[in-house]
Amino acid sequence: MQALPAPALRGLLLYGRIANAQAEIGLNNSGTKKPSTPKIIPRAAHNVSRDEFSKSALKVLYRLHKAGYQSFLVGGCVRDAMLGMHPKDFDVATNATPDEVKALFSNCRLIGRRFRLAHVRFGRDIVEVATFRAAANHVDDDHAHDEEGRIVRDNVYGTIDEDVWRRDFTCNSLYYNIADFSIWDYTGGVEDIKQRHIVLIGDPDKRLREDPVRMLRAVRFAAKLDFTIDETVVQAIRQDRPLLSRVPAARLFDEFLKLFQSGHAEKTFELLREHDLFSLLFPATDQELDEDSEFLAFVRAALRNTDRRVCSDKSVTPMFLIGVFLWNPVRKLAAGRRAREKMSESQSISLAAYELSLQQQRRIAIPRRFTVPMREMLALQPRFMVVRGKRAMNLLQHRRFRAAYDFMMLLSEVGQFDREKAKFWSDVQNQSREQRAASFQVAPAGKGRQGRRRRPRRRSRKGDGK
Ligand code: ATP
Ligand code: MG
Repeated sequence: MQALPAPALRGLLLYGRIANAQAEIGLNNSGTKKPSTPKIIPRAAHNVSRDEFSKSALKVLYRLHKAGYQSFLVGGCVRDAMLGMHPKDFDVATNATPDEVKALFSNCRLIGRRFRLAHVRFGRDIVEVATFRAAANHVDDDHAHDEEGRIVRDNVYGTIDEDVWRRDFTCNSLYYNIADFSIWDYTGGVEDIKQRHIVLIGDPDKRLREDPVRMLRAVRFAAKLDFTIDETVVQAIRQDRPLLSRVPAARLFDEFLKLFQSGHAEKTFELLREHDLFSLLFPATDQELDEDSEFLAFVRAALRNTDRRVCSDKSVTPMFLIGVFLWNPVRKLAAGRRAREKMSESQSISLAAYELSLQQQRRIAIPRRFTVPMREMLALQPRFMVVRGKRAMNLLQHRRFRAAYDFMMLLSEVGQFDREKAKFWSDVQNQSREQRAASFQVAPAGKGRQGRRRRPRRRSRKGDGK
């Protein structure tokens, strides 16, 4: 387990003493008794420094404050700063309405139809400003939930002590007040961060029914922060996991990116499997994982590789991991097809990848701009087996060569592709044209079979009299 950095620990210990000295406010996580006054942790008693926040976020906070509005940072950025993990995106919460925010910033755009948010832009930096909202259960409206308890309406402005209860986890519900640099804690979030616990605010079953994506968020934060998912949440996930299949496929694609492209993909994958959620996201993959330990090793290697790339700021594309996840199901389907019809291995893989990506898209709406190159990348795999001749050499020029090569290298790393051939493909990339031609045993480019330049044959044309 990751230890809290020393300053963080000092702040939290100091806060513990202050909190004990404060009158108890009857904090209750069951959702029945909700304190309307927060524990306020003064600047001297916590470790969250303004240095952790971007200049843009601070500009927005100060301008709102100077105009007389309440102005807080909330959510992941406060949590991460408290843990000594440098936050990257900043969410501002305020009692100013979106139109009032817009009036304050010329560089502001209002987005969202159902619930309007303000985006204040500084170059490439965007600070999201949200007006306090009331939680669905605070709205005196029976129609705010559907028959399964899912939130269908939560578009009512509120106050900070309403806004807090609609948030998902206690660790995500801390507010940093720019007026005096204090932290407002309504839910016991500081203590849960100290304990490294993922705890849902209110009744876990109800909160997961309201929005089943919170199950994935619990796993994501547990992996990213190295936290333990509280037993109450684990139980609720066990009970409510089937509801995840009702979440719109488009929303699951966004969540898929956050789960697997944030630098903690391997841990996330293990936790998703542990809580039996992976099978709901990638059913065909999950079935293969149970049957084939080699495939599991390959998937893990790919996830580790993705994490390494993210950590060293290299680009990652979702098509690569989706290709990895679908690789075994595709190979099986392709082999079955070849047994019935006469076709090349590449062709059968391309067709199987098409079928499986359609099937997968019903769960997770992977855009075609990723499934199309993914198919090409998989269909190129058999071509790495052939290392002689012009067609083999031409593979180096293919627009998907790079991705297909990385994929093949990964297979070879886990012993699922011939190591010598993998080395051949690595070596030829650094060779001169002449060396390359020799490696593939073809005549050097521009030379005839005997090393002579061939004259282009004259084609007979109409009117040539031939
Ligand atoms: P990170 O930026 O590391 O992904 P985050 O906590 O900032 O973490 P966001 O998705 O940016 O996560 O959301 C910002 C905040 O909005 C959260 O901290 C949480 O308070 C609230 N929130 C986001 N999604 C939900 C949800 N599905 N249900 C309830 N509250 C949510
Ligand atoms: Mg965030």
